Amino acid sequence: MDKVISVSLGEIALKGLNRGYFEGKLIRQIKNMTKNLGAPNIYKGQGKIYIEADEVYFEQIINKLKKVFGIVYISPCIRIEKDFESIEKGAINAFKEVLERENIKTFKVETRRVDKNYPFKSPEISRRIGGTILKNFQDIKVDVHNPEVYLYIDIKDKCYIYTEKIKAYGGLPIGTNGEGLLLLSGGIDSPVAGFMMAKRGVKLNAIHFHSYPFTSERAEEKVKNLATIMTRYCGNILFYSINILDIQKEINAKCPEDEMTILSRRFMMRISEKIAEKKNINALITGENLGQVASQTIQGIHVVNSSVKMPILRPLIGFDKVQIIDIAKEIETYETSILPYEDCCTVFLPKHPVTRPKLGDIEESEKNLDIEFLVNRVIENMEYSVIRGK
Ligand code: ATP
Ligand code: MG
Repeated sequence: MDKVISVSLGEIALKGLNRGYFEGKLIRQIKNMTKNLGAPNIYKGQGKIYIEADEVYFEQIINKLKKVFGIVYISPCIRIEKDFESIEKGAINAFKEVLERENIKTFKVETRRVDKNYPFKSPEISRRIGGTILKNFQDIKVDVHNPEVYLYIDIKDKCYIYTEKIKAYGGLPIGTNGEGLLLLSGGIDSPVAGFMMAKRGVKLNAIHFHSYPFTSERAEEKVKNLATIMTRYCGNILFYSINILDIQKEINAKCPEDEMTILSRRFMMRISEKIAEKKNINALITGENLGQVASQTIQGIHVVNSSVKMPILRPLIGFDKVQIIDIAKEIETYETSILPYEDCCTVFLPKHPVTRPKLGDIEESEKNLDIEFLVNRVIENMEYSVIRGK
C-alpha cells in the first residue's frame, strides 16, 4: 500500500483529440513546479494524472499544484492492488486517517469502475466496502444524501482510494492558448487581468511604462515585485520596461491638455503592439474596466482600440471593483498593489480628462506628433529582464 497524489483535469477532459497535447503541457508544468520537491515521478492514469513522491513533500507539492492551471482538484490517495481484500484494507486505512483528522459520524462510498472487466460493478463495490467500514468502526453511519465524508474508490489498472478533493483553479494549462503581452501598471487591476488570461492558457509577458526620473525606481521595483508574485501561477515572465517620459513631454507641449491620458494610452498600445509583433505574441492584455475611471468609457475603448490592429483582451471589463479586489487578495498581489508609489499616468494627469473622446479629434491632435519616430525611439531604449519565480 503506497501513497500518491492524483490530479483531476476538468476542461482538458473535453478536449477530444487534443487531449494528449493539453495533458503533455500540464505534466511539464507540474514537473517544473515540483522539481525542487524531491523530483517526483508523474504518470497519466486513465483520465487523471498521478504524482509519485516522497510523502514528506506531499503538503508542499499540493500547495504548488493548487496554482497550476488546468487542474480542478487534487487528492492524496492510497494506491493498492485491486483484489477485493486489498481494497478493503485500503478503505479501512483511508477511513482511519479521516477519523484522525476530523470527528465525523456519517459517510458514503462512491466507486468509479474504469476497468470494466472488474468482476463487481460500482454500486456493489460501494455497498460491500460500506459494510466493511461499518464493521470496523463504531458510531459511524452511512448517509447517502448528505454525508460528512466521501470515500472515493477508483478502480483502474490499480485501485486508488481517497477522501479529499482539494480545489484548484481549473482553467487550461499555460501555453495552450498562445502568448499575451500584459500591460502591467502598479495598480490592483492589471495583475488580476494577467491572472485571468493565464488561467485560460495564455502564456504571459509583461510591459511596464514609467516616466523616470519623474517616477521613482521604487515604483518600478514594486511592479517587478508584482510580476514576481504572478510567477507563482504563470511561470517565468519576460518583463519589458519602457520610459515614455519623452512622449508625454511631447504630447504635453503639442496637444490639448485634456487629451493627455487618452493620447498616452494610444502610445502605450502602439509600443506594446510593436514589441508583441516582434516577439510573436498574439494579443495585448489590460486591466481596463468599464466606467471605473474617467478614461474607461466605451468611447475611450473605441479610441484606444483604433490605435492598433492587435486584439486587446480586457478580462475585467464587466467586473465590479470589489470582485477585482477579492481576486487580487486571493492571488496575493493586493498588498503590493496598494503600496502608494507614483504611476506614470499621474505625472501629467489632466485636471479634466476627456471622458467621451472622438476619434477624429484625437487623430487631429496626433498630427502634431511624429508617432513612428517617438515609438521607435522609446523601443530602442527599452530594458528587459526575465522575472523568475523564487
Ligand atoms: P490598474 O489598477 O491596473 O493600474 P487602473 O484602474 O488604475 O488599472 P488605468 O490607470 O486607467 O486603470 O489603467 C488601465 C490599464 O492600462 C491598466 O490596467 C494597465 O493594463 C494599463 N496601464 C496603465 N498604466 C500603465 C503603465 N504605467 N504601464 C503599463 N500598463 C499600464
Ligand atoms: Mg493604474
